Amino acid sequence: MPAQRRPVKRSRRSGHAHNPLGLARGRGEKEADRRDFDLRDGLEEEEGGRARLVYPFETAPAAGAAVDVAPGVKWMRMPLGGPLAFINVWALEDGDGWAIVDTGMQTPATSAAWNQVFAGALEGRPVTRVFVTHMHPDHVGMAGWITRKFDCRLWITRLEYLMCRVMAADTGRATPEDGLRFYRAAGWDRAALDTYEARFGGFGRNLHALPDSYRRMVDGEEISIGDRIWRVVVGSGHSPEHACLYCPDLNLMISGDQVLPRISSNVSVFPTEPDADPLDDWLTSLAAIKPRVPADVLVLPAHNDPFHGLHTRLDHLIGGHERGLSRLRVRIAEPKRAIDVFGVLFKRAIGPDLLGMATGEALAHLNCLIHRGQATRETDAHGVHWYRAA
Ligand SMILES: [Zn+2]
Repeated sequence: MPAQRRPVKRSRRSGHAHNPLGLARGRGEKEADRRDFDLRDGLEEEEGGRARLVYPFETAPAAGAAVDVAPGVKWMRMPLGGPLAFINVWALEDGDGWAIVDTGMQTPATSAAWNQVFAGALEGRPVTRVFVTHMHPDHVGMAGWITRKFDCRLWITRLEYLMCRVMAADTGRATPEDGLRFYRAAGWDRAALDTYEARFGGFGRNLHALPDSYRRMVDGEEISIGDRIWRVVVGSGHSPEHACLYCPDLNLMISGDQVLPRISSNVSVFPTEPDADPLDDWLTSLAAIKPRVPADVLVLPAHNDPFHGLHTRLDHLIGGHERGLSRLRVRIAEPKRAIDVFGVLFKRAIGPDLLGMATGEALAHLNCLIHRGQATRETDAHGVHWYRAA
């Protein structure tokens, strides 16, 4: 049966997590319609988070163009819309052609940019394979299109591949009761639940169908790309099995969303696994990068610009979450719902546009406290969860 589009409620949202203030307006109705899924890459940080990082490139590539960041490594950007308008994607020389890392979201503007890149910066040489760091639509969105266009393989970790297919399969389904129960328990009102219902299933509309088979990437695996070795460094918490690629020879790390210089990657609990502790996964995997990748590596992140200062940034990210957990413990001296604790975790006001991401992140912190034995949870007669410091 063909997937039925659910009616999508219009709202004053940009539809993209990198545009939390919702500054970009005036997009055509049709495009706004397909952007109804919150990409959940992260909330932007304040200036303080940038301290002591060095950005060696003065100019970023325009859409459809490329900048050489190392021998045989090209930096390109695909349009997303909004003030933080791009995702960085990378081309690695691979014999006669190019291995691509990350692909952009499924939109006509992205295919136009790719066609320009293929004919221009990539000199008409074929794509040999497509690596995807993780399942979010701005990363995986064009993977099916590129792999079919060049008849090449998708390289991705197993959990990212499978989770992506599961989430894409929600498109066209009715909103499940588990999802409504989850957000009701967090304290959402009827209007917020109605919006969730209206938007449910949007994920699959932001990506081309994945290929039906893939090449699995495994943590620690060494992959030859051209005449270089790239090592797979898996992280978790932002997405289930996120692959970074580290090349010791070039001292480069393609970090995807695992390490971003100016954005704190979103770490959220979702309705499919309400008791998950992704923040523990996140903190553990950030700490695990340090002994595996040297401090002087050039980091090639999915958003913002390439930077030096990996270990500084890892410390900053871990410290930020730990301080958030401490403030949260104080805040829940008296019982609170998930929606009551945004003030101690986020600097900005949380409006309807950010409610989903903020709730997911708040629950990630609350679940982490529960797993550490520092908080307890009780459910009231209305099915709402109340958290209290233990
Ligand atoms: Zn992401």
